Amino acid sequence: MKQLTCRDIGVDCDVKFVGETEEEIMAQAAAHASSEHNLPTIPAHIDQMCRAAIKDIPDPAA
Ligand SMILES: [Zn+2]
Repeated sequence: MKQLTCRDIGVDCDVKFVGETEEEIMAQAAAHASSEHNLPTIPAHIDQMCRAAIKDIPDPAA
């Protein structure tokens, strides 16, 4: 599993995105950024920052 939180990229927000792939997380992050952070589209540099901040976490089923 992979995980990203808004805080990982310097946003004062504890929302967490969890997914199997970077793409899944970025889709959740984009929806969240749009509804919660007034960011209808994620700029390229923030997209890169997010991808760099995504970390691997242990699979909860393991
Ligand atoms: Zn957030």
